[in-house]
Amino acid sequence: MKPSTLDIKIEKAKNSKISQVDFNNLAFGSIFSDHMLVCDYKNGAWESPKIVPYGPITLQPSAKIFHYGQSIFEGMKAYKDVDGAMWLFRPIDNHKRFNISASRMAMPEIPESHFMEGLKALLKLDEKWIPEIDGSAMYIRPFMFASGEGFHASPADEYKFIIALAPSGAYFSGSVKVLIEEKYSRSANGGVGYAKTGGNYAGQFHPTQLAKLKGYQQVVWTDDHTHENIEEAGAMNIFVRIGDTLITGPTSDRILDGITRKSILQIAEANAIKTEVRTLTVTEIVEAAKNGTLKEMFGAGTAAVVSPISAFGYKGEDYDLPEIENGYADLMKKTITDIQYNRAADNYGWRYGIDI
Ligand SMILES: *Cc1c(COP(=O)(O)O)cnc(C)c1O
Repeated sequence: MKPSTLDIKIEKAKNSKISQVDFNNLAFGSIFSDHMLVCDYKNGAWESPKIVPYGPITLQPSAKIFHYGQSIFEGMKAYKDVDGAMWLFRPIDNHKRFNISASRMAMPEIPESHFMEGLKALLKLDEKWIPEIDGSAMYIRPFMFASGEGFHASPADEYKFIIALAPSGAYFSGSVKVLIEEKYSRSANGGVGYAKTGGNYAGQFHPTQLAKLKGYQQVVWTDDHTHENIEEAGAMNIFVRIGDTLITGPTSDRILDGITRKSILQIAEANAIKTEVRTLTVTEIVEAAKNGTLKEMFGAGTAAVVSPISAFGYKGEDYDLPEIENGYADLMKKTITDIQYNRAADNYGWRYGIDI
């Protein structure tokens, strides 16, 4: 291993909370480990990251995060294999995307060294918090927000980068019933849909609440212009299988470039599954549902890997999907999690080991 080039100071928690945690009954993203990594951006530069006990942070009421919403985040996971070795999945891609989000929100990019060395140091310190039960993992939340002050609408001059860890159980939503959105939009051309920025999610809550009142669990987002093209499912990318072809929309200003999405496309190719990355219309899936060629629909993202869709609603009509055994969703979930938990060879170079 390369020697650390950053001087990461560690202030240990006086008392560990780990004995209070029931690792057999972990929810998703609801409890947090003993420590967090904090790094400040001041006077045009990033300071050295520090590790401190997980706990409240103080901010001025005039901090720009509260007024102008400069905030971005990432979602990733650390896994333990049966021998207790620790692994990440394509973490450099998360770092790259973090900086793409930062740049869109006029926030400073963070060097790979701060992100990766900080993350590794934090995971090593809280290594015992990584759940070892099958399907559980350490959910990792790197985020950054404007801590600089001022009631004037311009980018802040100070920022805080934090990484917090949440040991989490398997993210199991079951099969979800989704509503294809005809009025609201999550993103638009020239907008911020491709960035993991807080407002994108806040904007989804109200339409999702309305869909829930109608008996659906999630919204399938369509393009803002015609509401004819399928874009994403909740905060996940979406895949549709028509016949034996797996289809997903192209990434753009409006569609987030998911790491799970691009992994699935590569796995499909390696398994000789025909893929199409193209505009997918609502008319087409309604037609396919009616003529029986619509086989599968699923969301794809780090939390659940794949989230199968059992039915979709559109213009007051519900369309059920068939129950398929050993479908593409199952194959993708198994292939990805086998690599993540070091249960299978990684032919893609995705697994990233961390020495404990
Ligand atoms: C995070 C996210 C995804 C999934 O990205 P992964 O890298 O696969 O976790 C998809 N869509 C949206 C809107 C997201 O925020």
